[in-house]
Amino acid sequence: MLATDLTFDAILAAAEIVGRELPATPLQSHPLLDRALGRPVLVKHENVLPTGAFKVRGGVHLAARLEAAERAHGLVTCSTGNHAQSVAYGARLAGVRATIVMPAGAPAAKRDAVRALGAEVVLAGASLGEAGEHARALAADTGASFVCPTDERIVLGHATAYLELFGQAPELGTLFVPVGSGTGAAGACLVRDTLAPRCRVVGVQSAAAPAGWRSWRAGTIETAAATTRAAGLATTTGYPRTQAVLRDRLDDFVLVDDDAIDAAAGLLATCAHTLAEGAGAASLAGAVAAGDTVHGSGPVAVVCTGANASADEIARLAGSVAAA
Ligand SMILES: *Cc1c(COP(=O)(O)O)cnc(C)c1O
Repeated sequence: MLATDLTFDAILAAAEIVGRELPATPLQSHPLLDRALGRPVLVKHENVLPTGAFKVRGGVHLAARLEAAERAHGLVTCSTGNHAQSVAYGARLAGVRATIVMPAGAPAAKRDAVRALGAEVVLAGASLGEAGEHARALAADTGASFVCPTDERIVLGHATAYLELFGQAPELGTLFVPVGSGTGAAGACLVRDTLAPRCRVVGVQSAAAPAGWRSWRAGTIETAAATTRAAGLATTTGYPRTQAVLRDRLDDFVLVDDDAIDAAAGLLATCAHTLAEGAGAASLAGAVAAGDTVHGSGPVAVVCTGANASADEIARLAGSVAAA
């Protein structure tokens, strides 16, 4: 597939496929959350999907679009967690083998979840980048196909979340989307261009893993250390395919620190009866940080992209809720 395949029609076709397997997720308002933010904010609850994250959309779409070689020799990929579960879910759906390479420090809960979906887990490398190198080598050795986290089929699958969202809230003024590799934000921008051209899409990344932000600002692919506690945002490089989409489309891109992400996860727990992992709370942290500076008219929406909180995240959450 070429980058030009990331069209609105291709997203509609992906939604046909994804919709056969996954229910549309709710877009909800939570009065306590509105009060905490001092303005209405809608939450797209991707956390309710199987695997607990929006990424399963990519895996489901991928599963329906596998090439013969991928079916024959299986899939290999690298991930800190949710992409892993997504590929494992898709592979199970398609009846193909999947091997997931995770950095040695990946949360145990995510490793267990991948194994429970029937995929093989290989622990290698200290960072996502190193795990990726190992995964590519493994693919070369075994004949399995390496699935890039920004594969077009995955971006198209993720974009279906935003097809739903703009259908649910056509008059949206500002949408905050968390950015790791940028697939979700790219999908949001592509759908926005057609369905809601007046809506601003704002990317949110952890200040402790700013490679995507730096790449977007520079207009070139940049790398940066990822020390964030939010595993779903711990990318160490900009990704060319998604950066190409975001470059002229993303309206703004903000950094939030990990404590602000924790605080947002606390808000989701106390005001929106929702367990979010750090990456899943990051877009709300962006909306909180923006405060009154949110430009434009129309409602504000955030995406709770994932619920797979690690034991550490749950412990910090309990501490912050108890202290409040
Ligand atoms: C992967 C992930 C993100 C970041 O999405 P990208 O498409 O990589 O930018 C955000 N939240 C959760 C829960 C994730 O798993």
